[in-house]
Amino acid sequence: MIKQCLQSAILIGSLFLSCASLAYAQSAEMNTYWRLVETGSTRLQQGDHRGARDAFEEALRYIDTDATAHLGLGIASFHLKDDRAAERELGRAIELKPRDKAAHQVLGDLAYRKDDLGSAVSHWEKALEIDPSDAALTARLERLRREHRTEKDFNREVTSHFSIKYEGREKIEAGRIVLRILEDVYGEVGRALSYYPDQEIAVILYTNQQFQEVTDAPGWSGGLYDGKIRLPIGGIEQETPGLRKLLVHEYTHAVVRAITRRVPTWLNEGLAQHFEGREIGPHAKDALRQLAQSGKLSSLRDLEGSFMGLSGAQATTAYLISLSAVRHMIDQYGIYRVKIMLDELGAGADPGRAISNALLISHEDFERGWKRSLE
Ligand SMILES: [Zn+2]
Repeated sequence: MIKQCLQSAILIGSLFLSCASLAYAQSAEMNTYWRLVETGSTRLQQGDHRGARDAFEEALRYIDTDATAHLGLGIASFHLKDDRAAERELGRAIELKPRDKAAHQVLGDLAYRKDDLGSAVSHWEKALEIDPSDAALTARLERLRREHRTEKDFNREVTSHFSIKYEGREKIEAGRIVLRILEDVYGEVGRALSYYPDQEIAVILYTNQQFQEVTDAPGWSGGLYDGKIRLPIGGIEQETPGLRKLLVHEYTHAVVRAITRRVPTWLNEGLAQHFEGREIGPHAKDALRQLAQSGKLSSLRDLEGSFMGLSGAQATTAYLISLSAVRHMIDQYGIYRVKIMLDELGAGADPGRAISNALLISHEDFERGWKRSLE
């Protein structure tokens, strides 16, 4: 069954490992190799990156001259943030099989994560040259080119936890202010959630116009976290409370993403607003009470997806509900249990299960209690 791989392809996440070029003689070693490759591929699909790495490493002990296990190991290492191993293995996969689209694509992802935009562009171009029909990658490359054009002359500075880019020598002070606040916030949010990301977090300062061009963010957005913190504040000259709140907000998203990639938006936005210290004023409280009393308050289940498509007014309500639910959760159960919920999500639980494992009540009971508290 595994040998059919010679004629087909193995799905790894969204990537296909093509095995068509292989023509090994049948042997026990080859069978073991392909069995391990299949195990590794399944584990990658399940998000078990450590398990996948182990399987691919073992496969390579049997056969070292086939690209497939090198590619799988490279992808697992990429997810485990072992950049050196990822580069080595993906490079080896390309040596063995120069037209391997997946290897080029993941090398591009890796370069992008390290903020080496020029190298990311050339890897993704190569991947598209191999498979021009990939519309999603075409769109990502187009966006990356815009980003690269905008940022190629930006200055870059690095601290122990952040790298920051901005345009123009005159913005050096703005960059330093942002870095200083972020280093503070790193400790603040880190202590509350007992979590300190081990990867450097990229921060990019834009003018308002550059921010719109690069991000396509809705007009109401004051900043964005999409794997990098992007801020339309190129011209700041001093620390202000508003700037600090913005940085706490976006940094919280970065921490949440480092803990789990699968988080309901209400939890993510609620936490970001909680840490920035946003208050629910009397007017907002009234609005929430009226919604709760009339039974028109959204279910949290309806706020799990992105808020990016919402109008300004809808977004205001969605953010308010998110903050209200998360405040209730923190007040009633403690931030410690909210962190457990994030860990549960990170381990693969859906939101309902994450709530019941962390708070020891069902999603429905949590939601009922929260809504009752508003009336
Ligand atoms: Zn946010």
